[in-house]
Amino acid sequence: MGILDPYKGFGVTFSTMFKKPTTEQYPEYKKETAPRFHGRHQLNRHPDGLEKCVGCELCAWACPADAIYVEGADNTDEERYSPGERYGSVYQINYLRCILCGLCIEACPTRALTMSNDYELADDSRADLIFTKEQLLAPLREGMESPPHPMRLGESETDYYTRDPDAPLPWQVGSTPGGGAPAGDTQAEAESVIARRVAGEHSRADEVPAHGAGSEQPR
Ligand code: SF4
Ligand code: SF4
Repeated sequence: MGILDPYKGFGVTFSTMFKKPTTEQYPEYKKETAPRFHGRHQLNRHPDGLEKCVGCELCAWACPADAIYVEGADNTDEERYSPGERYGSVYQINYLRCILCGLCIEACPTRALTMSNDYELADDSRADLIFTKEQLLAPLREGMESPPHPMRLGESETDYYTRDPDAPLPWQVGSTPGGGAPAGDTQAEAESVIARRVAGEHSRADEVPAHGAGSEQPR
């Protein structure tokens, strides 16, 4: 150590005294993240409320921290949670392990899994940091129906993935922005379309005009 080194050290301390503090007043003030910040995960839904997750486990295999646990199960006509053959019956993310790297969302073939900007993932219980499917599922938006229920957007899984996101939805009728509840004669028309779809008699030409945004959620 040179003779001037202590003075250099105190010089750093002294110069810092005149700098603006960078202390964040968290949790009173929550700093906004960058738009593409990788935070808490979300399991997304199709516009009719069916789940996008097909229980394929690709996210779990992609995870370098072994933080995801998935169990798939078969849909039936009586009990349908997603448009395809399979759905994720058990889905867990362990936030004690997760490093928020985003590899799982890149691996997901259906865009079921995305990440939000929510970074508040601390707790005083280890068990509470294992998030279940119910905690991760996206909330039901207007026009969505809680599964299980039949396919409302087509006859097959392919119809869900090949449909134009701007195409009208059967229940999005009238002039309510964002997809309001059906009303008047158009409601009867929408119900008729849904009934025919469920009965397997529907074609795209039957769809009623709609207004409002699609269901795609941030990745
Ligand atoms: S963000 Fe990374 S560590 Fe977290 S669950 Fe996904 S792949 Fe695993
Ligand atoms: S979230 Fe995506 S990758 Fe993971 S099991 Fe579901 S469909 Fe497969």
